Amino acid sequence: MKSKLPHVGTTIFSLMSAMANECKAINLSQGFPDFTPSEYLLDQLSFHAHSGKNQYAPMNGIPELRQAIATLTQECYGRAIHPDTEITLASGATEALFVAIQAVVNPGDEVILLDPAYDSYAPAVTLAGGHCKHIALLPPNYQADWQQIEAAVSPKTRLIIVNSPHNPTATVFSDGDWQALASLAAKHDLYVISDEVYEHIVFDQNRNSAHCYPALRDRTFVISSFGKTFHATGWKLGYCIAPPMLSTEFRKIHQFVTFTSFTPAQYAVADMLNEHSDQVHGLGDFYRDKRDCFVNAMQRSRFTMLPSAGTYFALAEYSAISDKNDVDFCEELTRKHGVAAIPLSVFYKTPPNSRIIRFCFAKREQTLLDAAAKLCVL
Ligand code: PMP
Ligand code: GLN
Repeated sequence: MKSKLPHVGTTIFSLMSAMANECKAINLSQGFPDFTPSEYLLDQLSFHAHSGKNQYAPMNGIPELRQAIATLTQECYGRAIHPDTEITLASGATEALFVAIQAVVNPGDEVILLDPAYDSYAPAVTLAGGHCKHIALLPPNYQADWQQIEAAVSPKTRLIIVNSPHNPTATVFSDGDWQALASLAAKHDLYVISDEVYEHIVFDQNRNSAHCYPALRDRTFVISSFGKTFHATGWKLGYCIAPPMLSTEFRKIHQFVTFTSFTPAQYAVADMLNEHSDQVHGLGDFYRDKRDCFVNAMQRSRFTMLPSAGTYFALAEYSAISDKNDVDFCEELTRKHGVAAIPLSVFYKTPPNSRIIRFCFAKREQTLLDAAAKLCVL
């Protein structure tokens, strides 16, 4: 059989979590919390399941949740969105990303990715018949060089995919980045996918978003995920906000990929947004404490921690400890030292020659301190 993805293996997140489980290592690799979502959210899930909300939800998502998302978007970014024509629920951001890419990429089109890029983007572009053009963001700052990005644009370029707050580098776009993106997209008539799954996890500046830039609105799919926002990655509930014409194309595909998403979770999340939106607005503070706990505990180690401005990840440079490449070093960390992390090179087409790995700090304080204690003896 001719593989449609001949160069794709198993995602690093599955590999590292399996290795962590096998070795009973503390798992700071795959990004997921080791604590439970709020009791209220769990109670509402159970309540709605027991109240008969167990059959197919409307294809675009239940109206209550789309309205709550519109209200949140207005509150956070001052953008008025029509819940009927511009918001579509999906089974995780992963589905929304896949569908948005299929909606705009035609065979032969070029798509700009900023490496290190989340690993689901490139395969989705390939399956649409597109070609990725990779621009590397480099340590220690991982700043986007917009002139270099513009130089990669050709008449075939159709789409640019951005991600802020950024996994895995934990950087956050500045106002200048958004402005540069908006003028690049307008000048070359590009579609934009803005992956904002960590939009509420920002530490040192205000939250920002493609939503804040009117010049981006007509051409952008903004994608987010309640998995991150409500500590429930296993619920796989995400959404796409896009203007009506783009949402129409998005929905044509979404209806034949999953059709709709887990009904009780949609009701529970709608209740959560309506009753406890303070949890959303407090998410940056919540994770800032965890970042500080982990980063402070790591000060006694020989790792050099890089700044984390958003997401629940922090990068660490380990050249004082080992000459191994990052994939081998992560395996050694997991098998010999009992802490699993994610190598950075796997997110690059052409990795830079650096010794940097990613730790997830979406964990209980004790988990972070136990992991740091193991890492500090290296
Ligand atoms: N984009 C990024 C940058 C992510 O880190 C993740 C992580 N899970 C996703 C998309 C996918 O989100 P979901 O779990 O909602 O599919
Ligand atoms: N987004 C998560 C991470 O970066 C993992 C998602 C997944 O396992 N597919 O670790």
